[in-house]
Amino acid sequence: ELMKNGILANQNQNIDYDTATILAGELGFTVQREEKEVLRQAQDEEEKDKALTEALSKIKNSTPRPPVVVVMGHVDHGKTKLLDAIRSANVIDTEAGGITQHIGAYQTVWNDPKTKEARALTFIDTPGHEAFTVMRSRGAKIADIAIMVVAADDSVKPQTEEVIKIIQAAKLPFIVAINKIDKEGADPTRVRADLAQRGIQSDEWGGTVPMVEISAKQNLNIDKLLDVLLLVADMNVEKIQADANMPAVGTIIESHVDKGMGPVATVLVQAGTLKQNDPLVVNNEIYGKVRAMKDYLGRSLEKALPSTPVQIIGFKVAPEVGDILDVSRAGGAEKIDVRQKKGLQTGAEKQTIVVREEGATDAETKHTLNLLIKADVLGSLEAIIGSMEKLKHEEVGVKIVGKGLGNITEDDVNKVEAGQAIVVGFNVSATPIAEQLMQEKNIVFKRYDIIYDLINWVKEDLEKLLAVEKITTEIGRIKVLAIFRTDKNAITVGGRVEEGKVFPNTLARVKRGGLIIGTGKITQCQVGQAVMKEVVQGTECGLRFEGKAKIEVDDVLEIYKEESKSRKLILNN
Ligand code: GDP
Repeated sequence: ELMKNGILANQNQNIDYDTATILAGELGFTVQREEKEVLRQAQDEEEKDKALTEALSKIKNSTPRPPVVVVMGHVDHGKTKLLDAIRSANVIDTEAGGITQHIGAYQTVWNDPKTKEARALTFIDTPGHEAFTVMRSRGAKIADIAIMVVAADDSVKPQTEEVIKIIQAAKLPFIVAINKIDKEGADPTRVRADLAQRGIQSDEWGGTVPMVEISAKQNLNIDKLLDVLLLVADMNVEKIQADANMPAVGTIIESHVDKGMGPVATVLVQAGTLKQNDPLVVNNEIYGKVRAMKDYLGRSLEKALPSTPVQIIGFKVAPEVGDILDVSRAGGAEKIDVRQKKGLQTGAEKQTIVVREEGATDAETKHTLNLLIKADVLGSLEAIIGSMEKLKHEEVGVKIVGKGLGNITEDDVNKVEAGQAIVVGFNVSATPIAEQLMQEKNIVFKRYDIIYDLINWVKEDLEKLLAVEKITTEIGRIKVLAIFRTDKNAITVGGRVEEGKVFPNTLARVKRGGLIIGTGKITQCQVGQAVMKEVVQGTECGLRFEGKAKIEVDDVLEIYKEESKSRKLILNN
């Protein structure tokens, strides 16, 4: 069967998944891929949970620390607006201290209504962040208190229900912020009733959950909400404690690669104190050391106490959001070496760096979706245009090249060219001549009668315009010890795996004296005569490298994988 398909393979060779699928199909079987990835992720999660619990269990002399608060709720119910309102409610003049930085969390100082003393509260502020969706449940785990936002004009929605589940699973104390009470159609009683139906009873109705009616937009009752937050913190004071006199333990809540500074990540210190020059031990690996720390106002810090979010410079590789930092494990660094020597998973695979496709991100190359919009009445047209204006993003956007009322006419169509703009009709159609003309000119015509659907389509199309994100995973490092054979576009080398591992169908950067001199593909790995699926650290092997680089002895091959991932539209308003 293999030969019939033009594949010459001997008994010991592996065939890839696609080939196996075709082959099995021809032989009357179906092939199922092992769900290793799903399993790995679950194990990963579990390991991180364990690492955190273990690290936090070393706490000896606990003292109260600021509560960590997470804001959750259905999209558009006002999480971002509320976080902004709380940020500016700070009783300390923040602008005097620095400029607001979005590092994934911030602190607000609020006067305790009883004691009148100033108290800090830490807020995780990444509700729209893609990574946060991934770590939503983790967000609930690292927080002490949740604020569930429910818009008074919209009440309980699917994500609200999801949040209820997450909060309950994490046994997290929470309060409900009934937002947008300034709006016409706001019905806080309905929100209370809808929540009661799902077992969330307002304390005013004899239940236990505090609910505060607010308007994040008009800054209404934000003070009351903060008072209630401090009350809830006091009721849970025995849990909201940490030992500040131990090596720092925390969770990575933000991570990215900065063009100038390299990997930058924010850690929320959960126990202990993080200091300058502390080793950054993540997942039991040393990722670097603290070279500089900044708070949410961009001010440099010498040390970070429990519940403080700090942005750290000094990572050699970017950690993942949700990773655990545990400085106390620095002494185990030798242990890691041993693990590596045995060729066990080194964690090098997790060194994921996100880069953007070149040239697609600059403001001047901003991609726009050009629309000519016609609607039946002025009210709809204004509403549509209003919604479009809100779709703000630095890389993509909507440009309205024409607008008007009534059916789409020949005149309208003559204004646009194919591929340059899309014609949208809201509750209107096209005249027969216009329709024919659009067909001839290959112009896309979309009809909608629900604004929500129209906006959703626009969002989806904008997403398609977003540059693809490339995810690079580092796999291993090989030192070249010998050159066996040089072909026109390939070279066979011998080398030793110094770090991680190597396997076929991976990419390789060729480095000489620290500089990249070329890239290519690893197509085959061999140890002695045996073709290998994988060669681990410490082993000498032969590699076939396809690429133009003229590899020499002593060069280093950095093995990596690259995946493209389409990005989600995260609007910055
Ligand atoms: P998120 O998706 O939950 O983060 O929601 P946003 O904070 O982005 O808010 C969604 C929309 O609701 C924005 O247009 C806000 O201006 C608006 N909004 C938020 N809070 C209020 C409020 O209290 N009153 C009114 N009228 N609008 C609000």
